[in-house]
Amino acid sequence: MLPPKFDYAAPGTLDEVFSLLEQHGGQAKLLAGGQSLIPLLKLRFASPAILVDINKVPGLSGIDESSGELRIGAMARHSEIGASELLKARYPLLANAAPWIADPITRTRGTMGGSLAHADPAGDWGSVMLALGASVIAKASSGERTIPITDFFRGPFRSALEPGEMLTEIRVPAATDRSGGAYLKLERKVGDFATVGVAVQLQLSNGTIGRAGIGLTAVGPRNIEASAAAGALAGQAPSPEVFDEAARLAAEAADPSSDVRGSAEYKRNVVQTFVRRGLNQALELAQSG
Ligand code: FAD
Repeated sequence: MLPPKFDYAAPGTLDEVFSLLEQHGGQAKLLAGGQSLIPLLKLRFASPAILVDINKVPGLSGIDESSGELRIGAMARHSEIGASELLKARYPLLANAAPWIADPITRTRGTMGGSLAHADPAGDWGSVMLALGASVIAKASSGERTIPITDFFRGPFRSALEPGEMLTEIRVPAATDRSGGAYLKLERKVGDFATVGVAVQLQLSNGTIGRAGIGLTAVGPRNIEASAAAGALAGQAPSPEVFDEAARLAAEAADPSSDVRGSAEYKRNVVQTFVRRGLNQALELAQSG
């Protein structure tokens, strides 16, 4: 199907983006990689009056670590994240999750910012960012605010971004030497959205778990932070019993629906198995750091 008619603007500065968003109110949509928006237009689930293409706006891409933070520009493509040597060396959860997203074409165009802003409960990056304890930078003509990722996802395809706001950057606390993470995803076929996805991050401190983060994909109305499971890990010496308990609590936090991908009970079992497996992988990486 063809999309409905729309105007198109490709501004060269953030100020121009904000002015277009203000001018058109709810009738304007930002266009990043177009990998979610264009299919929605073609299916006529959205019919904005104007697309504001942000691909020419400088300063929105890049991945760098400085002053105790990892910064990922909103326009960083999934493929760049997967290929980054910095992420492979210091943030294995991010590098590990990228190849699980879609197919090579979608990974080349789709962006981190677009994926988070789209707030699809089956989006993989949301869970990764919950596990990492990230924050999102939202800018508007009136200024900038920092939104903890735990407050960002409000429901299926609903985020904390206000009209006129744009996600410009994602910030992740800098990795410590003794940290590790893993992303595990069950999909029906290569390139599919998750039946279940699990993101796990562990940070060791003097032989015990300092901080843990667990994010769950496609098992609820939004990406879920398994906070009770992560809380049960913090301060403990890693052991099979501690990991089993965290996996049980994470499965309890999941709120899956039965659908063509599997029953709710099956998905909950996958969460439990994946969290246990992910914790073991993350521990191995943290111990080798
Ligand atoms: P766009 O499609 O350009 O925009 C998406 C939405 O976000 C729009 O509403 C847009 O207005 C808004 N937006 C974009 N950028 C910003 C910004 N900076 N600030 C505020 N709002 C913004 N995703 C997965 O996670 N896992 C998968 O397995 C997966 N499989 C896929 C398979 C296929 C075949 C396709 C087509 C997509 C798949 N996706 C998957 C989605 C893909 O990751 C998209 O790239 C992503 O969801 C959207 O990013 P985008 O840059 O393309 O955003």
